[in-house]
Amino acid sequence: MNDQLNDHQVDILVVGSGGGAMTAALTASVGGAEVLVIEKSDQYGGTSAMSGGGIWIPNSHYARAQGVDDSREDALTYLKNVVGDRVAPDRLEAYVDEAPRMLKFLADNTRLEYSPVAYSDYYPEKPGGKQGYRTHEPKPFHAGKLGRDFDALRPQHRQTVVQGRFTMTMAEGRAFLTQADGWKTMLVKMMLGYFLDIPGRLKGKRSRRLTLGNALIGRLRKSMMDRDIPLWLNTAFKELIVEDGKVVGALVDQDGTERRIFAKKGVILGAGGFEHNRELREKYLPQPTSADWSGSQDNNTGDGIVAGQKIGAATDLMDWAWWAPAIKVPGIDRPWVLFAERSSPGLLMVNKAGQRFSNEAQPYLESGYSLYANDGGAPSVPAFLVFDATFRKKYPLGPLPPGYAGPDASLPRKVKEILHIADTVEELADKLGVDAAGLKDTIEKNNAYAQSGSDPEFHRGDSFYDAYYGDQRNAPNPCIGPCAEAPFYGIEVYPGDIGTKGGLLVDAKSRVLKEDGTAIPGLYAIGNTSASVMGTTYPGAGVTIGPAMTFGYVAARDAIGMNE
Ligand code: FAD
Repeated sequence: MNDQLNDHQVDILVVGSGGGAMTAALTASVGGAEVLVIEKSDQYGGTSAMSGGGIWIPNSHYARAQGVDDSREDALTYLKNVVGDRVAPDRLEAYVDEAPRMLKFLADNTRLEYSPVAYSDYYPEKPGGKQGYRTHEPKPFHAGKLGRDFDALRPQHRQTVVQGRFTMTMAEGRAFLTQADGWKTMLVKMMLGYFLDIPGRLKGKRSRRLTLGNALIGRLRKSMMDRDIPLWLNTAFKELIVEDGKVVGALVDQDGTERRIFAKKGVILGAGGFEHNRELREKYLPQPTSADWSGSQDNNTGDGIVAGQKIGAATDLMDWAWWAPAIKVPGIDRPWVLFAERSSPGLLMVNKAGQRFSNEAQPYLESGYSLYANDGGAPSVPAFLVFDATFRKKYPLGPLPPGYAGPDASLPRKVKEILHIADTVEELADKLGVDAAGLKDTIEKNNAYAQSGSDPEFHRGDSFYDAYYGDQRNAPNPCIGPCAEAPFYGIEVYPGDIGTKGGLLVDAKSRVLKEDGTAIPGLYAIGNTSASVMGTTYPGAGVTIGPAMTFGYVAARDAIGMNE
């Protein structure tokens, strides 16, 4: 067949269909460009669709309208203090300036609507830190508006949907987890809403009340439909086409057929990180490593990063991921990533010696990385989560619903296989293969800390952030409780991730840079295809998708000259 029959021409080619990619496509389209979005899998939305959909946007117009006290200066001070000098200062400035503009632009031109939430920054005590309202969550969206396109929307991660049926907003999820006032009424209302959606129930189990990542991607997808922006599923980006040092398009594989797509104004790579590429994980990430510990979907295999490297692009942060402790249930495709449960009182994370090695309630990036950082004399990969009957009864933990809703006998067989239960601490230590004297000593210390309310070793519960997901009724410290009532429980936990953090090095306009620091004309990278603007840190909930969307907006504007 004549190659040219398979050629296609647009202004902007966007690779991938996560939140950043769709934002780039919408921005370019609003700016008058002809855009094409290609997606490797048969579902759109990527990990963004499975996620909490939270975005960390300081000083947004939504927050200002609510009278929240924030400013450009506070946000920049905070980022400079948390991220440090690992990232070029002009990228941090670009983020602080462009993130609120991006959100306003989408609010004005698309169906995207967000609300600021009371979610604390992860280091609220640092200069410029805030105790809430920089993280925003998407407003729920009705799947009926997507028509048949709902079927190809990648579903939420199972850990974000209660009993596989009931979708929750972030605010509802927190009320449920911390058993805040009114949580039972809220749960009943949610269940009623679900069962009374007769057309939805006739179609299947999946809720049509889209929240979190599905609300974000549902809203962006509908906005693309409004503007007739084509989205080609089952179309995998393979290589960049370069002419005279400029990227002019890409070679793709569409359902087994090779095609060339020429992009007059630029190619924007939003193809995610490399968390599902075993070879790259082994080459770059700390060891041991496994894609089985990643909460992300399977299609992010570093294709954009590798293609960039092939044409001389520089990379950075390749040894970093968005770490989080994770519980893997054999036979279930993705692990449960422990974002919040570690703050509940009575949960201990210990190494082979039965000793704690970090503050369990600290932000998940640090908590996940602490398994590697402390994997010394006493191994902590895997580590072990230890808790007692009281914790089990009251709080959820990964695949375990709280005991009042899912007692031990009712747990699925696969979950029972990984949950160790024992009448004594010694017996539990034996079952887990950890040092019994060490574990006993750790538990005794913890029980004393539960009484005093202070953890002199790791300062659990000292930060406002730690307490955010703690049990507010638990005194004196919402994050520290005794581990004293038999039976005792233990479960293995791994240094999981929600995507990788390293990728193509970009400048403040998201242009991909060569080793010599010059930009490759025509090529942009966003989201986890680019090296994170947050360096090795995680300043607040939503600092992966927030920057992906912000720099998608920035890249599109630069490519089509909307800045001029
Ligand atoms: P993705 O959203 O994964 O999009 C990449 C897309 O590119 C995918 O659809 C993929 O199929 C496609 N693709 C890959 N290769 C190719 C190719 N060769 N050709 C064409 N297409 C390709 N982060 C937050 O900021 N806030 C949150 O609230 C949040 N909650 C989370 C909750 C969970 C349970 C998980 C697992 C993650 C969460 N994260 C959150 C992390 C966040 O989801 C990811 O870091 C983010 O979505 C990555 O965005 P991305 O655009 O880089 O990749």
